[in-house]
Amino acid sequence: MTIKQNYERISEQIRSAKSRSNRDDQVTLIAVTKEVSVHVAKEVLELGINQLGENRFEGLQDKQDHINTDVVWHFIGSLQTRKVKDIIHRIDYLHSLDRMSLANEIQKRANEPLKCFIQVNISGEESKHGLSPEEAVNFARELAELDKVYVVGLMTMAPYTEDQQVIRNSFKGLKDLQTKIKGLEIANVPCNELSMGMSNDFEIAIEEGATFIRIGTDLVGKGR
Ligand SMILES: *Cc1c(COP(=O)(O)O)cnc(C)c1O
Repeated sequence: MTIKQNYERISEQIRSAKSRSNRDDQVTLIAVTKEVSVHVAKEVLELGINQLGENRFEGLQDKQDHINTDVVWHFIGSLQTRKVKDIIHRIDYLHSLDRMSLANEIQKRANEPLKCFIQVNISGEESKHGLSPEEAVNFARELAELDKVYVVGLMTMAPYTEDQQVIRNSFKGLKDLQTKIKGLEIANVPCNELSMGMSNDFEIAIEEGATFIRIGTDLVGKGR
């Protein structure tokens, strides 16, 4: 399969998932290029995708050094506080905001508000990053003070399982939490977006309300 064929298949899957759930709003596809070369990232851009996701500073820097077209850059990996100053001026969205020390550092370093997703560990698995739903609500309230941290929404990773219902329940849980936090009308926390869905589960995520999906393997494979 070529990347173009993958993209056509995924686009069709996105269309059908949207129609099954009667959605006509926007679902933004982020091409996760963390496992692939600059060359492959360029191939993705040539297909008309302009949203790229990376999870390490080095990968981000490498892609940015070699790509000079307009790209919306998403940082999807966990971010060390000391790396904030290197990354903040390079990215459009941070998907892994999960603690106050990180938010404070963003506040200190940013020239303009950074669009962030609060990362939530909705399934409660110990191996997963992110805040519990209760912690996320409190955290969102604290962020009202920080005008450089603009919380566009919530992000999660579903458990790695074959059980579709478990996956679906995770996404439903994130949607419920997003509705709740949005309803609190916290300053700097509009919380309209849901970043959820990867290669294995993006169709379920769309059915449950994802507005950003993050696809790597299914689109570009690994190690090319
Ligand atoms: C790697 C990664 C993805 C993409 O995963 P695939 O299964 O390859 O589609 C999405 N989100 C995050 C946070 C990732 O680290």
